[in-house]
Amino acid sequence: MKLDLLGNRQRTHYCGELRKAHAGQPVFVCGWVARRRDLGNLIFLDLRDHTGVTQVVCRPEVSGEAHDKAEEARAEYVIGVEGEVVLRAPETVNPQLSTGEVEVVARTLLVLNEAKTPPFPIDDDLRTTEETRLRYRYLDLRRGRMQHHLRLRHAASLAVREHLSAHGFVEIETPFMTRSTPEGARDYLVPSRIYPGRFYALPQSPQLFKQILMIGGFDRYFQIVRCFRDEDFRADRQAEFTQVDVEMAFPQREVLFGIIEELMVKLFALIEVKVERPLPLLAYDAAMEKYGSDKPHLGFDLAWKRVSLPERAREQIHVAEPLKALRVPGWATASRSQLDKLQEHAKQSGADWFSYAKVTASEVQSPLVKIIGDEPIRAVAGAVNAVPGDLIVMLGLKSASSARLETLPLQRVRQLDEASGEVRLDVARKLDLIKPGTWNFVWVVDFPMFGYDEKEKRFDAMHHPFTSPCDEDLQKLESDPASVKARAYDLVLNGSEIGGGSIRIHRQDVQKRIFNIIGLTEEKARERFGFFLDALEYGTPPHGGIALGYDRIVQLMAGESNIREVIAFPKTASGVDLMCGAPSQVDSPQEDELELMSAYPNLPADAWVLAASCDELLRLLDDEVFSRAVPGENQLQKAMALILAKARDDARAATRLAKAGYGPQSAGLCRAVVEASINARYIERDPEARGEAFLRSIVEGNRRLADKLARHPVPADLKEAINEAQKVESESKWPRSVAERAYDAQKQNYHYDVVFFLLSQQLHSDVAALAGKVALPDLPQLKIRIGRGKDAVKLALFTVFTYLHDVAEVAYTAFGLRKDGLYAARDRFERAHLSGAVSVDV
Ligand code: ASP
Repeated sequence: MKLDLLGNRQRTHYCGELRKAHAGQPVFVCGWVARRRDLGNLIFLDLRDHTGVTQVVCRPEVSGEAHDKAEEARAEYVIGVEGEVVLRAPETVNPQLSTGEVEVVARTLLVLNEAKTPPFPIDDDLRTTEETRLRYRYLDLRRGRMQHHLRLRHAASLAVREHLSAHGFVEIETPFMTRSTPEGARDYLVPSRIYPGRFYALPQSPQLFKQILMIGGFDRYFQIVRCFRDEDFRADRQAEFTQVDVEMAFPQREVLFGIIEELMVKLFALIEVKVERPLPLLAYDAAMEKYGSDKPHLGFDLAWKRVSLPERAREQIHVAEPLKALRVPGWATASRSQLDKLQEHAKQSGADWFSYAKVTASEVQSPLVKIIGDEPIRAVAGAVNAVPGDLIVMLGLKSASSARLETLPLQRVRQLDEASGEVRLDVARKLDLIKPGTWNFVWVVDFPMFGYDEKEKRFDAMHHPFTSPCDEDLQKLESDPASVKARAYDLVLNGSEIGGGSIRIHRQDVQKRIFNIIGLTEEKARERFGFFLDALEYGTPPHGGIALGYDRIVQLMAGESNIREVIAFPKTASGVDLMCGAPSQVDSPQEDELELMSAYPNLPADAWVLAASCDELLRLLDDEVFSRAVPGENQLQKAMALILAKARDDARAATRLAKAGYGPQSAGLCRAVVEASINARYIERDPEARGEAFLRSIVEGNRRLADKLARHPVPADLKEAINEAQKVESESKWPRSVAERAYDAQKQNYHYDVVFFLLSQQLHSDVAALAGKVALPDLPQLKIRIGRGKDAVKLALFTVFTYLHDVAEVAYTAFGLRKDGLYAARDRFERAHLSGAVSVDV
């Protein structure tokens, strides 16, 4: 349809503003058509903007033209209406609508733009999936709820800025393109075009910068800032998220808490919630014991207690010390199936011992009574102050040995605690104890300084490594790291961590000791944040701060259960921006400029299965062979060390080429891996002599090279070196042709030379095919295909795995290594192959 121009018309009112008092006024209102009701001679349009809806009436007797246009208008058309505000007849007043007493009689109607039929109606009754909403986010954003949430977010930002500025904090931007920050996640990387092979990291937080701003004398800093963490996706987590980042010099924890609490008061005032100050404090240890969580929901009165049973009883039921008991008031009515479900949940959460007792006026009923009698259970009931009508839930970990009474080490106490936290939430949900509209804040303090990494067998900073230990624990940093407390704190609201921070280390000597304990060598620390360590040495004031999870706070304020509801353009739980289609492939010129070799996006799924096998094998070799010393006592070991190392590097490069879609090139490189395997098997048949021959052949190779060089004019000093090399006697018994070695080493299942030949062919196959075409006499032009593809990719990956594995097998035998891992990897590879997950046509 023909569109109108806005011209110089100026909007006089927003749609949601019109009231009785405007009756009789001429207005010009604009917006989207929310609804159209055509009664023939009378057309109603609901006109919507971000403030609300106004009813527009188009009557032919007022304007035939406006009526005609209204006939054509459809949902989400953009229109402007010039007309007069009139009172509605009493029986047509709409009390649901703030503008329901009036309507605008259209004199002129401008159709400013058309719209396709939207994939879902723009209203607050959601009748579509989140996926569709995110794909058409611009339509979703028109909905009142999204408008409200993002405007609330804006109001919250203003409150943050106003409040912190009033307390002397200065907002300073820190870089997005920077070096890695140690928050414990993976960095997102940005490749540098100007420095190929180098990367900027997107900040996981401005941690080091805000500390440097304190060294730089800014005294108080804040920033509403985007942070980026490449973590595994979880339903309610965003790869980029916003923090209110805060830091202050010469900090007293209570002063910082006061400033943040006041901020909470102001933020929640925006939704008319009164936050009572001061907020309660809870020590980490107590939080873990009572609530089984370092971010406890305090909105309901359920608390665990660590209890013990008499030795005899524990022996009978094989449970380790301590156990935990939870009194659930009034739930002696719990049914068998409810308890079974609870037990199931406890098991899944990591507590493999579960029991319960129901307290009545006269007795305790429990499946345990039969085994250990009722005395111990009465004692537990007493310990948790149970009264008749209560249920007591008991959790524990089974004792590892039935003969011995086990006391749980710290790690396992944590495991039990965490399980108890899950069970507590489960009970609360079942009994509907979590009430909306209640706000339970708590500061969790006195965190342990270190956690123990079982896999790496070392301590790790629980917060980040710049967190200060408590002053009084400084002397036991090295002697008893597990017991050291950190000056770290978290702010928790309704069971969600909404902020965390710490008083920092400001002394170089303490910082060094912490790095030492967490196994960060001086060299590594310098490599990662040398700039920061340098800065620490130039008069660093004591300082500390906090970062608030801004998205989460706004989400809770908005009463939403999902963080995406308060982010304008969020990514899905699996990290995809459905509207703009990020992440996306990049054009190859861009990739070339950046000297990147990314994965070829169109490889078939089974190529990835093969690639995963290759990567697994490579990782295994790195772990089991290359990250330690292997014996080099005989010729076989020496030869295999060289052969395996080169084969590993060739295989790694070939795998990367294949993943990048350079199949023929990868296959070409695979010849080296096949040759390594031929050599390994050849040597294996007569290890000492042939190992020696192989090693000599390397020298021999040098000699041959020298011979060649000698035939060319070379400078005098090089000539001397060549003469020197020529003195090396050629006694090597190493057969020069690959085929000769291959035939000797050949086993029934291996056709080394055939594979080798095949791969050689593969390398030239495109040229050969081309040559075939060239031979056609009347071909006037050639269209030559270049670039990446999936040709030969699977062949190459298959070869990498098979032959690298073959080399590794010989090497493992030579070095006397256990082959379990090697065989398990091959089993998985073969299973994938046999299951049909992979098909390779050679
Ligand atoms: N940088 C920390 C974080 O993002 C917070 C802090 O220590 O201030 O969790």
